[in-house]
Amino acid sequence: MVGLIGIAVIVLIVIFAIFYGYGLILKQERSQNPYSSKAKCTLCGKFFDKEELVERAIGIEKLYYFCGDCIQSLYIDYLNKKQN
Ligand SMILES: [Zn+2]
Repeated sequence: MVGLIGIAVIVLIVIFAIFYGYGLILKQERSQNPYSSKAKCTLCGKFFDKEELVERAIGIEKLYYFCGDCIQSLYIDYLNKKQN
């Protein structure tokens, strides 16, 4: 019985270590990537801070970002369509 509990404890520690290590790797990747807070506008392809972009999720995995200029030009296009 003691052996089983010992193995269970070791397995738990290993699982914890794996998750903890994985979290550290993710954190490191985020801080090392200079573009982590930046994203590319889907329409014009320029890089902006994510706070400046409007984010839309299409489907489960696809994320699209739109900058102010592109949104404005889309809106103008939309208004022109409405008037025609
Ligand atoms: Zn844009």
